[in-house]
Amino acid sequence: MNYTRFARRHYLQGSTPIEHLPNLSKHLGGGVEIFVKRDDLLPGAAGGNKTRKLEFLVADALEKGADTLITCGAIQSNHCRLTASWAAKEGLDCHLILEERVEGTYQEDAGGNNFLYELLGVKSKTVVPGGSDLAFEMEEKARALMDHGKHPYIIPGGGSNSIGALGYAVCAEETMAQLNQMMLDISHIILPSGSAGTHAGMVAGMAGIHADIPVSGINVAREKLAQEEMVHELALESAEKLGVLSGILRESVVCYDGYVGEGYAIPTEGMVEAVKLFARLESILLDPVYSGKTAAGMIDLINTRCFDKGSKILFLHTGGSPALGVYMDSFR
Ligand SMILES: *Cc1c(COP(=O)(O)O)cnc(C)c1O
Repeated sequence: MNYTRFARRHYLQGSTPIEHLPNLSKHLGGGVEIFVKRDDLLPGAAGGNKTRKLEFLVADALEKGADTLITCGAIQSNHCRLTASWAAKEGLDCHLILEERVEGTYQEDAGGNNFLYELLGVKSKTVVPGGSDLAFEMEEKARALMDHGKHPYIIPGGGSNSIGALGYAVCAEETMAQLNQMMLDISHIILPSGSAGTHAGMVAGMAGIHADIPVSGINVAREKLAQEEMVHELALESAEKLGVLSGILRESVVCYDGYVGEGYAIPTEGMVEAVKLFARLESILLDPVYSGKTAAGMIDLINTRCFDKGSKILFLHTGGSPALGVYMDSFR
């Protein structure tokens, strides 16, 4: 597809690796081979999927003359960390609105991403209660900064709008080029489905290149239908932006909501098991909030024979391991 009409910064040189996971595949049995697309190794402080979205979002901000980025996320947000990271690299100020989804959980001196925000030099962190109107909070921040002569650019939560999702249409194309070169016939792609930009961009990208590989999302917060509709809407918007004439069929958006547990960022047994398996068998660090629950979902789908014998599954590893250190108790 043609991305040249979109403003873009090139943060990734080449492609992130696709690796076979022989030990995990053997351990699970069921005749399924597992492969992983290592988007956890994307550039930007500590890596992860938001870098692909920020290639387009930061470029849009720079094109519009911004000198400041404002974004929002949970208190341990990988998206906030990577926005702070690319802001630092580009010489932009960065301000964060952090949603304390569970009352009393924010700690000023917490480690993980919270520490990295500071290290990366964010100008401010504003902690707001769970359920706050984050778009409004970001607008308020922008107004205050404009009163001081700044030119802020607001990036939505997770970088998930049709600009950010372009990054994952790019990833679909990059992945397919690798698979063609490796002569690797993948039957299914599994990825986390959160603020939806990753899932939607991947679906739009795969449709645009007629790759015909089903993409399934493992939910990290919402219920199946709500998430599928959110992904479908953003995939349609992205497809239109990219000129994908075939559009996106509603049936091509599939989400599983059986692995969320009690809620967003709340550990589950399956997640703990999956994080340990990936670490001990393949030396790959997952995270407790996204990739760990997604891997738990994938493992369960394999164990319950949802994939035919001989299937090759590609797991999109979106990163997030900096949050592991704040969840140590769950693993001990
Ligand atoms: C944000 C994030 C996701 C989810 O991606 P969305 O585009 O928000 O759906 C998955 N994994 C990690 C590590 C993330 O930080």
